[in-house]
Amino acid sequence: MGSFKLGGMTFGSLFKKPETLLYPAEQKSAPVGLKGHIENDASLCILCGICAKTCPADAIVVEKKDRTWSIDPFRCVQCGSCVRACPKACLSMDPAYTPVATAQSCRVVEVPDPKAAATTPVSAAETETLTES
Ligand code: SF4
Ligand code: SF4
Repeated sequence: MGSFKLGGMTFGSLFKKPETLLYPAEQKSAPVGLKGHIENDASLCILCGICAKTCPADAIVVEKKDRTWSIDPFRCVQCGSCVRACPKACLSMDPAYTPVATAQSCRVVEVPDPKAAATTPVSAAETETLTES
């Protein structure tokens, strides 16, 4: 009985589309409800550190002196606590898969100084860098 079922499944799969994808050449579209990963609109960030204190996984580090906000995506469990706690609403969950990485890395976002930005506008996206931890 079991052999017939197995044989039927094997035979049927010969005519079906493969269930797997040639990742990363082919990418699966994100399902509805995917939490994704954290994005920081650094132009709004005031480096208060509340997100880092709220994070249960110690994934966020805020360096006021260096004006950097960083996240270790390998630590983040996508709980969303930092997004809810941020008083400036600059954190959000991007409902997309995290880009492929070949080494463990932290995402470091340089937060522009509002005083310096008043004379020379700085784009937050331009200062975002990947550093290996
Ligand atoms: S992201 Fe929000 S909570 Fe975190 S340091 Fe910036 S302003 Fe504060
Ligand atoms: S989503 Fe949760 S685990 Fe990830 S950085 Fe925010 S508070 Fe930390």
